[in-house]
Amino acid sequence: MTPTAKTRVTLIRGDGIGPEVAEAVLSVLEAAGAPLEFEEAVVGRRAEEIEGNPLPPAVLDSIRKNRVALKGPVGTPIGKGFASVNVALRKTLDLYANLRPVRNVPAVPARFENVDLVVVRENTEDLYSGLEHTVVPGVVESLKIITEVASTRIARFAFEYARREGRRRVTAVHKANIMKLSDGLFLDCFRRVAADYPDIVADDRIVDSTCMRLVMNPEVFDVLLLENLYGDIVSDLAAGLVGGLGLVPGANLGKEIAIFEAVHGTAPDIAGTGKANPTALLMSAVLMLRYLELGEMATAVEKALFATFAAGIRTPDLGGKATTTGFAKAVSERLGA
Ligand code: NAD
Repeated sequence: MTPTAKTRVTLIRGDGIGPEVAEAVLSVLEAAGAPLEFEEAVVGRRAEEIEGNPLPPAVLDSIRKNRVALKGPVGTPIGKGFASVNVALRKTLDLYANLRPVRNVPAVPARFENVDLVVVRENTEDLYSGLEHTVVPGVVESLKIITEVASTRIARFAFEYARREGRRRVTAVHKANIMKLSDGLFLDCFRRVAADYPDIVADDRIVDSTCMRLVMNPEVFDVLLLENLYGDIVSDLAAGLVGGLGLVPGANLGKEIAIFEAVHGTAPDIAGTGKANPTALLMSAVLMLRYLELGEMATAVEKALFATFAAGIRTPDLGGKATTTGFAKAVSERLGA
């Protein structure tokens, strides 16, 4: 029998809980027999120490070559030090769409039921342009960049995604009542693109009222389209609706390259304790398997994960006692069952 060709994927284990959840996910993928081989890459503080650069060119080359990466969280120094590697990866590789499906996981207790929404976040501009400077001592300017090109392509992405996935509505979230030019442009682009998709309901909401509505009636939302900063904040809020950051996956998508990573960060408060929930990165790997057209394998992993939850096995963030490794082992045991 000829062995199946393996797809090579760049693997960034990341910092904090990153290496723990990455190891857990790799063990499940191996148990699933996923035809993948991983090329390891190091970024962040460790890369800066070893190579003098938190994002070495060889890492970008690896991702460009393999076109797919699975990534754990990478820490960013606060208020000083190197710029975010996470933002740099998305901008340098033009991974303009950040997709974050947020839905209740069967048998996992959460504050709300029937949540099934998707956050589509523009990933390359806005206040994440990194353009800040001191005008005079005591006065700092931070530039919010919104362009027609980026706003139009992310709106098109959201509608195409909605159509492909059988979603009914795309809601643009903004603050165009105050930022009339920048958010106004984002909204104009959204409305123009919406006209090409008469089969999908298009509406818009102001970001503050969206947050209130999300924590009262999250079930009414479908696809949410946001600029970079609002998307970052609303993703974490939405994760809280269904049980927390331990559960929500993500994908950074460009024209030809994709990086799959959880919404959560390095969780320094629990790093090294074996308490991290690997579900978010595992669900990101499930998104990756689907992207690689390994749909059956993705469904098998998802089924094993849900069966693990149904058996009452959970990590401490969800009120359980399982360790990161123990949880992954329980999922692996249910594969093919
Ligand atoms: P965080 O997401 O790391 O943690 C927030 C809270 O959620 C913590 O209480 C943490 O214990 C909990 N949590 C997160 N993931 C969990 C998991 N898998 N299982 C159980 N509990 C989990 O946010 P933070 O503390 O604001 O950020 C820490 C660092 O992570 C910062 O340096 C930040 O820049 C970085 N970060 C990186 C990414 C990324 O790599 N994409 C994303 C967000 C934050």
